Amino acid sequence: MTTTPLLQVRELIKYFPIEGGKRQVRAVDGVSFDLLAGECLALVGESGCGKTTVGRTLLRAYNPTSGSAIYRREDDTTVDLMQLSTRELRPLRRYMQMIFQNPYSSLNPRMTVADIIGEPLLVNGVPHAERLARVRELMHEVGLPESYLARYPHAFSGGQRQRIGIARALALHPRLIIADEPVSALDVSVQAQVLNLLGELQRRLGLTYLFVAHDLSVVRHLADRVAVMYVGKIVEIAGVDALFDAPKHPYTEALLSAVPVPDPTRPPRRLLLGGDIADPSAPPPGCAFHPRCRYVQPRCSAEVPELRELSPGHSARCHFAEELTLEGM
Ligand code: SF4
Repeated sequence: MTTTPLLQVRELIKYFPIEGGKRQVRAVDGVSFDLLAGECLALVGESGCGKTTVGRTLLRAYNPTSGSAIYRREDDTTVDLMQLSTRELRPLRRYMQMIFQNPYSSLNPRMTVADIIGEPLLVNGVPHAERLARVRELMHEVGLPESYLARYPHAFSGGQRQRIGIARALALHPRLIIADEPVSALDVSVQAQVLNLLGELQRRLGLTYLFVAHDLSVVRHLADRVAVMYVGKIVEIAGVDALFDAPKHPYTEALLSAVPVPDPTRPPRRLLLGGDIADPSAPPPGCAFHPRCRYVQPRCSAEVPELRELSPGHSARCHFAEELTLEGM
């Protein structure tokens, strides 16, 4: 990992109009972060917090409401992905790929594995023989036997299908991978294998990951840093060990309390998170987490907290972050 940002996201906002434009869902509400070349940054939060929308907006599956995402090309020149037209984006797309959540629905059931993995190469005009050679190489990279080339997705297990999805994402030698809950649809026993594969590929190919997950336990061994999102905003961002050992935001503490500890001698942890995530079309005033926060004080519902740096590389959005002693893992 370097200290050079591959991507600098600033004040990214994505609102979706509802009820004929009378109201808006504030899916992403002013998100800023740097993604360093070669790192894995995990974006974590409950379903509906906006983490998937961040990933999709960065890849321009959605147009942003406002904000910027400055991408550094290989020649060190920069470009704002949020300002590019579809035509201008096209040559950059090969460097930014997505791995999808559901390996069952993201693969075309009528295409063979060779055609699925080779599709991005075909679209980019790679000749047949070269394409086949690259597909074989990719099968090898993700641990699938070459003899499976002519098989259809239904013949594979969930873990194998996700390996096919990963191979397809790697076909054009990307630099940035946005992995959208890539293991959440898989059995727990298979999750670790796919996570290990992603870690290995990252190290070997020098990839940069934005890893979207709802489960903190999934990111512990893969991520370098973690950003926790709540109702469209980052509420805490830190190095993975700092965040797990000494969280500074009550929401992170609550998420950590739900992570199972694989140690039978340790007493079970008290689950700290009750209720549902706030409605992003009508977020609570002040700190959006205040209706669920066990440390809530009168100031919390009156004043919106800023994301403040509390120690180098560790920021949290809580009025009382310095005073609270929160439980890590
Ligand atoms: Fe809890 Fe208040 Fe901090 Fe929000 S600002 S997380 S409600 S203590």
